[in-house]
Amino acid sequence: MKTPAGPSIEALEELRTDCESLCRQCALIDFDGKPLYVVLGSEIVGDENVERIGGCTTSLLDVLARPSIESRGQWCGRGPALMINEKMMWQIAVEQCGTTSLPVFPKFKSLCLSVALHEAAHLAVDGTARQDISPEAAEYVSTKTLRAFRVALTETTATREERRSDREHHDAKWIRAILHLHHRACATNYWPLLAMQLDVVADLELYGLSPVWKFERAIGDEPARLIGLSIAEILASEPPGEFSKLYTADTDRLKGLQ
Ligand SMILES: [Zn+2]
Repeated sequence: MKTPAGPSIEALEELRTDCESLCRQCALIDFDGKPLYVVLGSEIVGDENVERIGGCTTSLLDVLARPSIESRGQWCGRGPALMINEKMMWQIAVEQCGTTSLPVFPKFKSLCLSVALHEAAHLAVDGTARQDISPEAAEYVSTKTLRAFRVALTETTATREERRSDREHHDAKWIRAILHLHHRACATNYWPLLAMQLDVVADLELYGLSPVWKFERAIGDEPARLIGLSIAEILASEPPGEFSKLYTADTDRLKGLQ
C-alpha cells in the first residue's frame, strides 16, 4: 500500500494556529497577554528521525526555535512554547488508518491537538511566565541546550532513569491540570474533530500510574465548578481528597516496587 504524502506546509501552518487556539481557549487566563509558540519537531531537529517523544516543553524552547519563529515573522519576545513531533504523529496516524478507509489527515490533526493540550498542561504547571535573559546569554545557552536537546529527542530507548523522570514529570499537579484542560476542550469548536480521548492525552499507565479514568472519577465535579479560574489558581488550591488519596496510593505502590 502506498504511504500517503505528508501534510502540506499550508496544512501545517493551519495546524499550528489551531493548536495555539485550542490551548488558549482552554487556559485563557494563563496564556493571556503572552505569546504561545507552537514549534514543530522538524524545526528543532531537521530531518532526523525522532521517535522517543511526541512533544515537549522546555523553558528555553522559545529561544531554540526563535530562528524559525522569526522567519515566519511571528517572534514577539520570549514566551511559553510547546513542541509537537509532527513527523511521529503523521507516522502514527498512517499506521492507525492503514487498515481502514479513514482519511489520515483528520487523525493526524487530532493527535497533534492532543499533544498540544498535553504540553499546555506542563506549561500551566511550570508557570507560563518566562524569565528574561540577555540575547548574548540566550545564544550561548541555546547552542549548548540545543545539542543536549537533540540528543534527548533522538534517544530511541528510554532508560529506567528516564522512565522515572517521566513519571515525576507527570505528577498530581499535571494530572489535575490535564483533567481541567480536557474538560474545557470538550466545550471548544475543536471537539467534534478531536473526539479527544482522555487516555490518549494522558496515558498515565505509561508512567505506571492508575488509568486516567480513575483520576477523572476521583476529581469529581471540580473541573465544572472551577471553569472560570486559571489553571495556576486551581493548582494553588487543595485538590479533592479522593484525588489525592488515589495519587498517594499509586506513588506508594510504585515506591514499593523500586
Ligand atoms: Zn508530558
